[in-house]
Amino acid sequence: MPLEQKYLDLIRGAVPTVDDPATLDRLSHLYDLVVETNQKINITSLVSPIDVSLKHLIDSLTLATIPEVKKCLDAGYECCDIGCGGGFPGLPVACAYPTLPLTMIDSTAKKIAALKENAEALSLECVSPVSGRGEDLAAAKRGQYREAYRLCFSRAVARLPVLCELCLPFVSVGGLFAAMKGMQTGEEVRESLRAIPMLGGKIVDVREVKVDLDFALSMDFNDEEKDKIREFSSASRYTVLIEKNKKTLDVYPRKWAQMTKKPL
Ligand code: SAM
Repeated sequence: MPLEQKYLDLIRGAVPTVDDPATLDRLSHLYDLVVETNQKINITSLVSPIDVSLKHLIDSLTLATIPEVKKCLDAGYECCDIGCGGGFPGLPVACAYPTLPLTMIDSTAKKIAALKENAEALSLECVSPVSGRGEDLAAAKRGQYREAYRLCFSRAVARLPVLCELCLPFVSVGGLFAAMKGMQTGEEVRESLRAIPMLGGKIVDVREVKVDLDFALSMDFNDEEKDKIREFSSASRYTVLIEKNKKTLDVYPRKWAQMTKKPL
């Protein structure tokens, strides 16, 4: 079932840049596809309209509200979502930017197969789902993906030092990596201070992402939904913005076991 109008109003109010009817239609259809896909394979533990609206659709779309990111999306630069799972944050972003060339990578083949079907169902022809491990696809000998993207982003894949080794090799020099992070951002940033320059990156900013949902508390949501709305707007959310200012050495990314056992 597509999303009811009140959830679309919630999304529109939370992310005012998303206000055209075609985008909201695609987001509503995406909700339906997520629920349907989840009956076949586990892509998310959240399937209620309020949970999907908040934690998948709105959360993903906050990425497009960050000026440095929005600039890349508006310009239609080559983008890449690494470790996209069932399609987040990439698919909601693609719903808002349907002509954006967006590669979406995940190591779980069945998630990518489902993502391909869902992108087709949404007529998102510029989305290219790729099944594979990020560290293999970005390896120096695999030219196609390495340093090929002006904008890379990722949510909920690894702690920042490991995530940077996985993702920065995909970013072209002059490009941007946006890592969507939660409560432990400060600690993860401190852990990454050595790794980021070693990978050719430089932190531009650690941007707090605020989502004001007060307007929704007078809308027709039940008490449980209102609690979730309050909880979501008070949660800590940050996007770490990392610029790629020089090429990544060929030795990175290392194999996953090395990256995780001995983070840079
Ligand atoms: N980004 C999605 C989201 O926020 O809903 C999915 C997050 S899920 C917790 C982590 C995903 O990262 C999984 O789908 C997993 O298959 C993928 N993943 C983990 N390590 C990876 C790697 N080295 N290369 C590609 N994908 C990876």
